[in-house]
Amino acid sequence: MDPTRSTAVTLLAEMNSGAISAEEVTRAYLDRIDRLEGRIKAFLHRDADASLEKAREIDALRRAGGPVGELAGVPIAIKDLLCTRGVPTTCASKMLATFRPPYDATVIERINAAGAISIGKTNMDEFAMGSSTENSAFGPSKNPWDEERIPGGSSGGSAAAVAADFAPISLGSDTGGSIRQPAALCGIVGLKPTYERVSRYGLIAFASSLDQIGPFSHDLADTALLLKIIAGKDPRDATSVDTPVPDYPKTLDTPPESLRIGLVREFFGDGLDPEVDAAIREAVRVYEAAGATVREVSLPHSKYGAPAYYLVAPAECSSNLARYDGTIFGHRAENFDPISPAEAELPVLIRMMMASRAEGFGPEVKRRIMLGTFALSAGYADQYYNQALKVRRLIRNDFDTAFKDVDILVGPTTPTAAFKFGEKTADPLAMYLSDIYTITTNLAGIPGLSIPCGLTKSGLPIGLQLMAPAFAEEKLLRTARVFEKATDWHTKRPGLV
Ligand code: GLN
Repeated sequence: MDPTRSTAVTLLAEMNSGAISAEEVTRAYLDRIDRLEGRIKAFLHRDADASLEKAREIDALRRAGGPVGELAGVPIAIKDLLCTRGVPTTCASKMLATFRPPYDATVIERINAAGAISIGKTNMDEFAMGSSTENSAFGPSKNPWDEERIPGGSSGGSAAAVAADFAPISLGSDTGGSIRQPAALCGIVGLKPTYERVSRYGLIAFASSLDQIGPFSHDLADTALLLKIIAGKDPRDATSVDTPVPDYPKTLDTPPESLRIGLVREFFGDGLDPEVDAAIREAVRVYEAAGATVREVSLPHSKYGAPAYYLVAPAECSSNLARYDGTIFGHRAENFDPISPAEAELPVLIRMMMASRAEGFGPEVKRRIMLGTFALSAGYADQYYNQALKVRRLIRNDFDTAFKDVDILVGPTTPTAAFKFGEKTADPLAMYLSDIYTITTNLAGIPGLSIPCGLTKSGLPIGLQLMAPAFAEEKLLRTARVFEKATDWHTKRPGLV
């Protein structure tokens, strides 16, 4: 058995039966990473010795017959914006290049307690702003299906790591699509849970009212397991809620009682690639064959989703990123001599902050901070930020109305398959539009899932997006499982050897 061609659930069965040890599993993944990481560049930081040491601890625990956690011995890759105690956490930014958090994020505590083995911190767009990993200060990751193409973003490293079989599962974050979009482009499963479902404590914030942590995996059994472990109330995140966490793995294979599916009309307009369109319509036929009723539904305010998102998210980012000023957190410029007579008038502290921020942040992060500062500024807030909040409410109302008649909404995750490096970097607006189908669920706070549903003629993965009402992850996963059981797209792997 090649452990690196496996899933977390099957590896757990093998390890629990004694057929393979956690150390052997971990070594297999580390060997594969050593061989292929130079091409894929999924990671920003790895510590093979620490991973192996943890694996040996798990093996000892198992041998002693002690209780082992639900992920005991399973390697996992972690997006580099989740705080890991004593381990570099850079957000792919020069600003945090030397940051080692003094504490673990809640999700990290939970996966550690479950016995997962961190295999490394993954690459991303700087501070999670982007859709391709091209905004990483440390260079982009490659799509394992075609190394000339982007893996998606911002959690591109976490998606590439699973698609390349560097780990069976990984964690990412999704503010406007950053889990679902790279999952779709890398041919794997990616879930953005309901906004308040998973604690954000220790997630380095981009846009606090939209950010959410979620799993990547090859199939839904792994998604269900990882979600169960990370979900739930956390007293350290006031936005996490007490709503009970269902036993997602247990109910996964029970088809939902009701399978009324709504096809989102607005997600099939201009800009949708015909091959993606055809794959989604074929997926709908699979559901019909499984007994689902399918009807077209409208989310009439969807077209305002991108403009609203690109006001709300930058507004929150401009506030969240104000803390990186060279005083306590982050990069501090060494030279802050005035570069103009006007600057010479400024207090030295201000000059230090200006120089530190100018050096520490990349161009996209600066663009967002400026957009957000403008949208919030006196005299403009009513025209921009407050207007965007009203649109956000209308978008949420659209979903509420749609979910009166259907159980699950479906559509494409992305308008096209993975694009080439450099294709959209010169045009920020074109890059922003790669999230056109994913951002509305963040604005509404509801869960969204992308599962593999096809390949283009040139062999690039296509993702089917499913959306459910808030806290209906159980129904979402069970509905997606109906498709997964009827097809074999989730078993396809890139020919990366
Ligand atoms: N691509 C979107 C952006 O650049 C979404 C990013 C995300 O979800 N973190 O803002």
